[in-house]
Amino acid sequence: MSEQPAPAPVPSAVPVSAPDTARAGAPAAAHNGSVLPADVAAALKRDGAGLVAAIVQQFDTNEVLMLGWMDDEALRRTMTTGRVTFYSRSRQEYWRKGDTSGHVQWVKSVALDCDGDALLVRVDQVGAACHTGTRTCFDGRGLSVVAGEASVTGNAS
Ligand SMILES: [Zn+2]
Repeated sequence: MSEQPAPAPVPSAVPVSAPDTARAGAPAAAHNGSVLPADVAAALKRDGAGLVAAIVQQFDTNEVLMLGWMDDEALRRTMTTGRVTFYSRSRQEYWRKGDTSGHVQWVKSVALDCDGDALLVRVDQVGAACHTGTRTCFDGRGLSVVAGEASVTGNAS
């Protein structure tokens, strides 16, 4: 019961009215003040716009559905609301998948990759993941490639 309130020195000259318009439109790029748990925020490697790529995969069929972009706040919303939220580079706003299309993505799990610059979001996708109406963004869009094949004889010298 000897707790004493330590009088904190009050800085008297802190500018509290600095215009925050410079950061209003851009996603937070700094670890400080991140809305995420500290370990997650520290592990994220954001691009120059403060964003990380998010690969979205159907949790039971392993279909790769689409790729989106998340800043710290979009990731926080995705981790805490059960719905996938992206950050739109072109519109510079948050975008919750399914709000306009009905094609909701229900979050099952989120993983951060080995070097922190990509997320794997496993979901239950309602309907089409792609805005063009295909199940995934990659359906019918395969490129012509030369396929490789593992050698059956191994690397015997
Ligand atoms: Zn698409």
